[in-house]
Amino acid sequence: MKLTWWTHKLHTTPVKTALTVPAGMLSFVPSCSTADAHSLELLQDFVSRASRLFVISGAGLSTESGIPDYRSEGVGLYARTDRRPIQHAEFVHSAKSRQRYWARNFVGWPQFSSRQPNAAHYALRRWEERGKLHWLVTQNVDALHSKAGQKRLTELHGCSHRVICLGCGVTSAREELQNRFIALNPDWRAQEGAVAPDGDVFLEDEQVLHFRVPSCENCGGILKPDVTFFGDTVKKATVQFVNDRLAESDAVLVVGSSLQVYSGYRFLLAASEGKMPIAILNIGPTRADHLAGLKVSGRCGEVLSVTAVNLQVGSSVFN
Ligand SMILES: [Zn+2]
Repeated sequence: MKLTWWTHKLHTTPVKTALTVPAGMLSFVPSCSTADAHSLELLQDFVSRASRLFVISGAGLSTESGIPDYRSEGVGLYARTDRRPIQHAEFVHSAKSRQRYWARNFVGWPQFSSRQPNAAHYALRRWEERGKLHWLVTQNVDALHSKAGQKRLTELHGCSHRVICLGCGVTSAREELQNRFIALNPDWRAQEGAVAPDGDVFLEDEQVLHFRVPSCENCGGILKPDVTFFGDTVKKATVQFVNDRLAESDAVLVVGSSLQVYSGYRFLLAASEGKMPIAILNIGPTRADHLAGLKVSGRCGEVLSVTAVNLQVGSSVFN
């Protein structure tokens, strides 16, 4: 049964208060005032009322872990550089593109793979432990939810910590591939640039010319990160699985996503069609703002850790 209690449109605006996150952690977090107390109360109430919460997270959640997003004003990859993520067809059809992709990914991997979950990831895990969170769908491929210990999780676009063979479908750990890269390229060196949301770094074309890319040890096939590149689609079975979890839920919370990509946005359309209450926590506008009963602008880590702690002590502000 769907809840019908959320009937008013409540789009709150932040007030100017002092930052509480260390400045060093904010280099990829868009400028934003701290969410005001009223917004926090409304979000607290929203979460308190839900008993089977469905959460969809995006790149905005990981910026506080030092991983940039694509679209944020001023600090996202699109704003800072003219780089764009590789397209699926280009990766599959061009050996040269794969060489460039993997050379960059090889350089960025040590830094990218060492990123750790932040307060928002841990808050969501606490909701799961308390039985508040029914399912978490993330559009991120950085494995930070898994690192935080999240179990009821679907990585909608896969995970960059896994590699899949396009020939035989066997998956393996990205870390193993890193060792194969090192073994194949003992004398290869490149200067590291800024790391992108998928672990990519920028390298000049001449730097990647001599980088050697291994193939599948099983069948000799092409190795690809086990992620959904732009231009590819999420498996139907995965979409169906997530839709089933959504149907079992009683409220939807978006955390740190502009929902510009349809693969995530479609679940908001389904939730809206099913008259489910929807809340959004994000800095900046999202594609689903018109579908949400509550919109809170604030940093995910700050806002969710407060909400999670309040739930832990059982103190809804309306109780
Ligand atoms: Zn293979």
